[in-house]
Amino acid sequence: MADSSIYDELGVPRVINATGTKTRIGGSLIRPEAVEAMARAADGFARISDLQARASELIAECTNAEAGYVASGAAAAMTLGAAACIAGDDFGAMARLPDTEGLADEIVMARTHRTGYDHALRAAGAAIVDIGTNDRHLGTGSTNVEPWEFADAITDQTAAVAYVQKEYSSPPLAVVAEIAHQHDVPVIVDAAAELPPKSNLTRFVEAGADLIVFSGGKAIRGPQSTGILAGNHQLVESAALQHLDMHAAGDVWEPPLDLVDVDSLAGVPRQGLGRTLKVGKEELVGLIRALQLFLEQDEAELEAKWSARVEQVIAGLDPVSGLECAVTGGEKVSVAPEVVVTVDEADAGVDATTLVGDLRRETPRVFVGADSLDDDAFTINPMCLAAEEAEYVVERIVANLGGTR
Ligand SMILES: *Cc1c(COP(=O)(O)O)cnc(C)c1O
Repeated sequence: MADSSIYDELGVPRVINATGTKTRIGGSLIRPEAVEAMARAADGFARISDLQARASELIAECTNAEAGYVASGAAAAMTLGAAACIAGDDFGAMARLPDTEGLADEIVMARTHRTGYDHALRAAGAAIVDIGTNDRHLGTGSTNVEPWEFADAITDQTAAVAYVQKEYSSPPLAVVAEIAHQHDVPVIVDAAAELPPKSNLTRFVEAGADLIVFSGGKAIRGPQSTGILAGNHQLVESAALQHLDMHAAGDVWEPPLDLVDVDSLAGVPRQGLGRTLKVGKEELVGLIRALQLFLEQDEAELEAKWSARVEQVIAGLDPVSGLECAVTGGEKVSVAPEVVVTVDEADAGVDATTLVGDLRRETPRVFVGADSLDDDAFTINPMCLAAEEAEYVVERIVANLGGTR
C-alpha cells in the first residue's frame, strides 16, 4: 500500500476496499492505461458526437447490439433508455420530458426487480407499474411473478418493460422479452454489475434486451462516471438526441451518421433531458480504452487471482476463534466469489455490526461488505483487493476482536 496518496494530501481518509465495486467508495480502480488515455484526451479537442460514434462502434461490436452510447453511469444510461422509450423520435416529446402528459409513460416491472436504481427510470418521467408479489422472499409462495402478469399489465400507456438482470432473476429474460415483443414494447435491462464474464456483454442482447446498461466503472474498470447503453438503433438514436449538447447552429449541425440519421429527422432537436448526464471527452476516451482492455483480459487468470485472494483471507480468518468462513455459492450476488465471515459474538468478543463499524472508522478506513449484518456476518470481496491489502484487512479484523488473543 502506498504510504501517501492524493487523499492523504487532501486530508481525506483512504479506504481499503474489501467490499467490491461499490460506487460510494469509488467503484473500481480505473485501469492505468485508461488513465493514460484520458490524460492524452485532455491534450486536445474532439467533437463529443464523434467520440460517441466511435464508442458506439466498439459497444455494438462487443455486445452484438445495433448501437451503443455512453452516459455518466449505468444509472444515467437507464434514464436515457427510459427517455428514449417514452419519446421515440418525437422532438416535441423530447423537449417536454420529464413532463409526460399525453405520452405513454408506464414502465412495467416485477416487484421483485424494484431497486433503488428505479429512480433513474422515473427521472425520465416514467411511472412504474408494479406486478407480481414478493411471495418467494417472504416464504408465502413459490413464485414472485407469473409471465402472464407482464402481458396483463401492458396497455397503450406502456413505454417499456424493465428487467434487472441477476443470475437468479426470474422469469428468465427471454420469456419476458418474448411477451413484451408480442405487444411491441421494448425491454430495458439493468445489467450494471453483471460483468465479467465478458460473454454477458452479448448474452442478454441475444435473450431479447432492446436496451441494456452496463456500468463503465465496475469490472470494466473505466472511469467511475461512465455507463454503457447498448441496443436497438432507433432507441439509441433517441437517447443520443436527448443527450448531446444541442446548443447547435441548425444549418451546420452534422451529427455522425452512424449514430443519428439526420435526413430522417424533422429538424434539430432542443436540448434534452439527458444533458444533465453528460460525459466529457476524457471519460469517453477512458471508457473506450478500458472496454478494449476488458475484452482482451484473460478471465481464467482473473478468476484465479480472485480465488487466491479468497483463499488468503480464509487462511487468515477461519482459524480465529469466533469467526467462521464460507465462500458464496450459487446464491451469490457478486460476479466474484466472496468470503462470508460469520461472527460468534461470545467467542469473538465483538458483534459483526460493531466490528464492521469500527473498521470503517480506522485510518485508513477498512470497508468490508455489510449486507449480511442481520445474519451476524460480513463479507470480503476480492475484486478490489491487492494481496498486501488482503493481509492488512485480515490483520485489522483480528486486531478489532475483543478478549485476549
Ligand atoms: C451499480 C449498479 C447501478 C449503477 O451503476 P453506475 O454506473 O454507478 O451508475 C445500477 N444498477 C445496478 C443493479 C447496479 O449494481
